[in-house]
Amino acid sequence: MIIGAGLAGLSCAQALVAEGIPARVFERAWVVGGRCATRLWQGHLVDTGVQYFTAQSNDFKKELLTRLRQFRPIISPVLDRHDRIVVSPAGPRFYVLQGNNYFAHVLSRGLDIRANTTVETVMFHAGGIECLGETYPAVVSALPGPETARLFGLGKSPVDYEPCLVALLEYGETAVTRARECYARLLPEGNEPVLSSYCENHKAGRIVGNKIVFVVQGSPRFTREHADSPAEVYLQLMAKANEALWRIPSDGLTASYGHLWRQGRPLEYTRQKIDLPPGAFICGDTQAESTVENVWLDGRATAKKVVDYLKGR
Ligand SMILES: Cc1cc2nc3c(=O)[nH]c(=O)nc-3n(C[C@H](O)[C@H](O)[C@H](O)COP(=O)(O)OP(=O)(O)OC[C@H]3O[C@@H](n4cnc5c(N)ncnc54)[C@H](O)[C@@H]3O)c2cc1C
Repeated sequence: MIIGAGLAGLSCAQALVAEGIPARVFERAWVVGGRCATRLWQGHLVDTGVQYFTAQSNDFKKELLTRLRQFRPIISPVLDRHDRIVVSPAGPRFYVLQGNNYFAHVLSRGLDIRANTTVETVMFHAGGIECLGETYPAVVSALPGPETARLFGLGKSPVDYEPCLVALLEYGETAVTRARECYARLLPEGNEPVLSSYCENHKAGRIVGNKIVFVVQGSPRFTREHADSPAEVYLQLMAKANEALWRIPSDGLTASYGHLWRQGRPLEYTRQKIDLPPGAFICGDTQAESTVENVWLDGRATAKKVVDYLKGR
């Protein structure tokens, strides 16, 4: 059994099934993808979690080319606060035409997925691992570290996760000219409240009408301060900062929406071996870099470990 139908859990399940091992995936939400999320908002398709992904490894490139053909590079540059280009060390940035979450949908095809099912407890017995009334020979947690720690009784998460507030901001087109200059602006830590601001119009086919849409990520400090504030409070502050960043007149905002990722990204992934009960495995950004490509690769690597374990039983 696999807990969590994010990209790590789905990749792990696909790799197990390819080895002839039946895998069942439990997912708390009604939709797969986890932090690789897309929202239909104001008629636009907007990525609220993963903004783009890279494809450095041959295995991941092959997966994208065979399973998912409709992905495109984002050609416009990403700039820092001094208007210097931020080159992605992992190569070109890509997005999926139908929304980045579509990749998760493609990965979920043919899998046994129990959506809308939260795993509250996992019991480890000599005869197997018990969960939701059934017994399994192995369990993979494809959840953020703190959730894995709770389910597997680890006492403490192997890594700490930062929350992340995300604001979707829509403006009338006439108000924005600087948005054409680049896809995104990244700000170093300390430039409160915005960590990064992405203009979704640079993903062709996503934005309808004469609108400009930004996805703005709040800095960790700002997020911690405002995680439990009413959305109108943090949205106003984030919109103001975004307008200063892109030099947008303050009366141009036509709609806004806020989302909180309580376990947004880990501070650092752990390189140490994590002590787990027999038959228990983990995958995802607890032990891999927090990117689509790396958690997908980690899902596959974890599936190999599960296969070896099952063979050795
Ligand atoms: C705001 C933001 C922006 C990002 N931008 C990028 C980017 O541009 N490029 C990039 O490569 N990466 C980006 N990342 C990182 C990327 O999203 C993650 O590394 C990756 O999606 C993690 O996938 P995962 O499968 O490990 O975990 P998740 O996607 O978190 O999947 C875990 C799944 O488990 C489910 N779940 C949780 N608890 C339970 C339970 N008890 N029972 C059952 N199911 C449960 C959740 O609903 C979720 O679907 C971003 C992250 C955030 C938060």
